[in-house]
Amino acid sequence: MNPNLLQTPIDYLKGIGPQRADILRKEIGVHTYGDLLNFFPNRYLDKTRFYKISQLEKNSSDVQVIGKIVHLRTVEQKKGKRLVADFIDDTGKMELVWFRGQKWIRENLKLNTPYVIFGKTSWFNGLFSMPHPEMELLEDYKKNLRTAMQPVYPSTEKLGKTGITNRVISRCIQQLFVESGGKFIDPLPEELRQELHLLPKAEALFNAHFPKDQELLAKAEFRLKFEELFYIQLQLLMKNLIRKKKIKGFPFEEVGTYFSDFYENHLPFELTSAQKRVIKEIRQDLGSGAQMNRLLQGDVGSGKTIVALMSVLLALDNGFQACIMAPTEILAIQHFNGISELVGELGISVRLLTGSTRTSERKEIHAALENGELNLLIGTHALLEEKVKFQNLGLAIIDEQHRFGVAQRARLWKKNHLPPHVLVMTATPIPRTLAMSLYGDLDVSVIDELPPGRKEIRTVHRYDSNRLKVFRFIRDEIKKGRQVYIVYPLIQESEALDYKDLMDGYESIAREFPTPEFQISIVHGQMKPADKDYEMDRFVKGETQIMVATTVIEVGVNVPNASVMIIESAERFGLSQLHQLRGRVGRGAEQSYCILMTGHKLSNDSKTRLETMVRTADGFEIAEVDLKLRGPGDLMGTQQSGILNLKIADIVKDNDTLKTARYYALQLLKEDPNLGLEKNRVVKFTYSQLVKEKNIWNYIS
Ligand code: ADP
Ligand code: MG
Repeated sequence: MNPNLLQTPIDYLKGIGPQRADILRKEIGVHTYGDLLNFFPNRYLDKTRFYKISQLEKNSSDVQVIGKIVHLRTVEQKKGKRLVADFIDDTGKMELVWFRGQKWIRENLKLNTPYVIFGKTSWFNGLFSMPHPEMELLEDYKKNLRTAMQPVYPSTEKLGKTGITNRVISRCIQQLFVESGGKFIDPLPEELRQELHLLPKAEALFNAHFPKDQELLAKAEFRLKFEELFYIQLQLLMKNLIRKKKIKGFPFEEVGTYFSDFYENHLPFELTSAQKRVIKEIRQDLGSGAQMNRLLQGDVGSGKTIVALMSVLLALDNGFQACIMAPTEILAIQHFNGISELVGELGISVRLLTGSTRTSERKEIHAALENGELNLLIGTHALLEEKVKFQNLGLAIIDEQHRFGVAQRARLWKKNHLPPHVLVMTATPIPRTLAMSLYGDLDVSVIDELPPGRKEIRTVHRYDSNRLKVFRFIRDEIKKGRQVYIVYPLIQESEALDYKDLMDGYESIAREFPTPEFQISIVHGQMKPADKDYEMDRFVKGETQIMVATTVIEVGVNVPNASVMIIESAERFGLSQLHQLRGRVGRGAEQSYCILMTGHKLSNDSKTRLETMVRTADGFEIAEVDLKLRGPGDLMGTQQSGILNLKIADIVKDNDTLKTARYYALQLLKEDPNLGLEKNRVVKFTYSQLVKEKNIWNYIS
């Protein structure tokens, strides 16, 4: 087939005019023939069976019945009207019902003529009824060649409204198979296809849209999912290979005095074995001569900071500078204070640079960076500014990476003539399957062990109606000398409403916990940074006992004496957010509590989230549930959603296929790292096309 055919704009397809083309582009991202071909059904209806009306069962799924309409009538209802048809076969009577499009239906339906109807039934007034059935005259039904299983394509309201029904899409795709002669280049090499008994591409495509039977459908899906995941893995692995070969890194060969002195004399605690293992992995990378690009995953409180610091010391020992970038000012300050204290006696120069650093100080910092006096710079994304020039940056550490865009990360690479080593730390554990796909080109280290002596945080779910009891509990804890967070949701779309909720909440808490006995801090997104810091500071120092806040406190804040976390409207938070928030307590020696407050009305997903929180504190388990509930796009935050843009595979459900695909991609690259072998010609071609399309290449660094 002419390979350009797949690039043809969708406007040119028979049956699709410019208007429909526009809707297809906007609604389902179909721009070309190729896109449409890769727009797959999300389910299939098995229309092999016909039911008699007497055989219908309550709540049965979609059914197909042959019969005729004997009577049509309009029924007035509270709002508007509905059109009702009496539909009979030789075993009984049922009703067909329309709430929309009644005029058209009334004019076009034929009475006393056999129809094939298809749809879901409901039980109403002692009769079965089928709202908005799919209908076709039996005569036409018999004429059309059809496969047993009918594809159902994902739809949107707009598609339905503008007449781009399932049938229209399915016809267009049929048309595509006709125009292309059903011939498609097979992007998988013969050898691989044989080894895995994969269907040829053309056959797989056809059967994914119009399966002949269940078995062929399964084979078709496997083949297409495999191909999709194979090429993602191939790109990621290639990228890693190229990086390791081409991108030289600064070799940190020495373990010098800073590192040893710190390790022997200043380490405030014994490292956990997970921390030791990870530090070893990082040391190996840094000494290898290739540039390190490593993702460090560790649950909240697992002790990533000390790992970061020890990596920094390795950089300094080898004559390089280092920087640590945090997503918020509060967090940057906390790192600065914590680290300054830890390295106090080592004689290292550490400075803090954030958006609110004064110009005079900023100038000093810039100068000290350039002349090499400054060893370690800690800050926010202010570090990324053009003016911030290092004499010799060797290591860049990014904390809580999901808050940074990928483009920002890339800017760090340009801060030296060779890219510095990069360590990305995240407290949002990414399920392994997802990490494999998104960060397949990064090396991953995991701290899977918490420091000893941590008490488990007791987590409970309480309804708003129990608020008084919760208040009593708070009072008791404060009397024991503890501090309490009360967190309100902040969701961008209704910022004003959230603000009102927060203020209402604050007032009722202020009433319940009056001064001078109680002192309350409040922190939210609409405050000036200086005011925020002031309030935060009072809480950190223990001058206030209650911190009323929005999720601004989500990341990183460390107040060991705070032992109670109340989360208001907990059903409105995502799982990973809830987990992050809970991680703010349980940092000291006291028994800590997390109370999830909600109303009585909860969606199933909300219930699952709350139950998960109550059941487990394991960040990885929570991340898996989150992934299942939300899908991978959301989990990564909007910035990174849609990176993979999967057409048919599902990272969660097709986990096994993903592993197989990764294995075979790896084997292929081992044998043929440059894709130079004749038998892999088609792989080379497909790969270069994908890179040209900037598939995932540009998004992952
Ligand atoms: P996170 O991984 O969330 O960034 P931190 O690095 O902030 O965690 O560490 C959380 C707390 O645990 C800090 O107070 C830190 O001093 C302490 N900590 C870290 N490692 C250990 C350890 N091996 N033993 C005891 N306490 C530790
Ligand atoms: Mg941290």
